[in-house]
Amino acid sequence: MNYKAIVLVVFTIVSMYQMALHFIQYRSAGNPTPENVKDVYDAQTYQRWKKYSGEKCRLQILGTLISWVVVSILLLTNAYAAVAGLFSDGVFMQLLAVLVFDAVISTIFGAITGYVDQMIIEQKYGFNRSTMKTFVMDQIRSLAIEMLLNVLLVSILAALHRALGNWMVLLFAAVVFGITLLISFLYPIFSRLGNKFVPLEEGELKERLTSLLTSHGYHVKAIEVMDASRRTTKSNAYFTGFGHMKTIVLYDNLINTMTLDEICAVFAHELGHGLNKDVLKQQIMNMGNLLIMAVMAWAAVSFPQVHQAFGFEEINYGFAYILLGTVMLSLVQPVTGMLMSAYSRFAEFRADRQAVTEGYGEALISGLKKLARENFAHLAPSKLLVVLEYSHPPLSARIEAIEKQK
Ligand SMILES: [Zn+2]
Repeated sequence: MNYKAIVLVVFTIVSMYQMALHFIQYRSAGNPTPENVKDVYDAQTYQRWKKYSGEKCRLQILGTLISWVVVSILLLTNAYAAVAGLFSDGVFMQLLAVLVFDAVISTIFGAITGYVDQMIIEQKYGFNRSTMKTFVMDQIRSLAIEMLLNVLLVSILAALHRALGNWMVLLFAAVVFGITLLISFLYPIFSRLGNKFVPLEEGELKERLTSLLTSHGYHVKAIEVMDASRRTTKSNAYFTGFGHMKTIVLYDNLINTMTLDEICAVFAHELGHGLNKDVLKQQIMNMGNLLIMAVMAWAAVSFPQVHQAFGFEEINYGFAYILLGTVMLSLVQPVTGMLMSAYSRFAEFRADRQAVTEGYGEALISGLKKLARENFAHLAPSKLLVVLEYSHPPLSARIEAIEKQK
């Protein structure tokens, strides 16, 4: 069997699929705006949004195209094996060489598209607050974290596979799940590396938010404000941590741009996620996803012929990781991603209902409209794309559901 051709064909199919999605998104900018969200943008802003959306989509299409060309060339020319060949024969050195090479390449391309996205497009439309220095530091930090995690993960995979053979599948899934849990625990610490968090100041807002929480006998470790305005003008709020260790983070932009009622409405929505244990449920789904990934990881290290087709003498664990990420998972991810986003959209509607129950229906509508305006959201996305990959329902559908409940 010509494994090289199979891998290249699959990689081409998944790349084309990605480009097709970006193209559908590009085309959907022309969709008519639903009646209940017509007041989000005025005519001039709407024209600006169209241009913005078009530029974003073109960049994504171009980015996918370039990465398809580069990775195809690297695969065709057996470049990964050539890089590994520069180092000694040890399994660890060989996997390290391939992973570092891959991380450097992906960071270079990620940095170029990230630069165009953040420093050119977002800048042009007034969303970027990141300075060149912050941008470069972010890139270096993400390269360091990516390399560290990949090397750690693949080394564990390699050690398990060599020690246990096929039994590695389940163990690997358990280890990866352990690592994801650890990262979720450590995430508040990681995110603290690049941002400042201050406790929400005393006053009416804190009192109202706190009473919203205590009325449900619910405990939250802290309500913090993150200095997101250093990087972006966009607003957001999210939960971190598990169980009793929950911390609610509000972007400072949210505090600066929304009314008291609107902030409470957004917060009541987050509370809805908390009451429904949506983070936990998402973790459980991630576990199912990880099991699929583990089976694929097993497949990626179980067929030396595939590695030999790309110039390796035997199995290279670093290359297995690349095969897994760029080819195998890209093939499965659209399906698992679709199921998980369907659930996520359901959870979003449910969290909205919580805000309405708390009496913030009207404030949630005006808050969501403000968020959509600030985030320059797509008001009439393609129905197909919503089903395939939207984690949040479109604004007009959310407003319709809120109105119905009120
Ligand atoms: Zn939500």
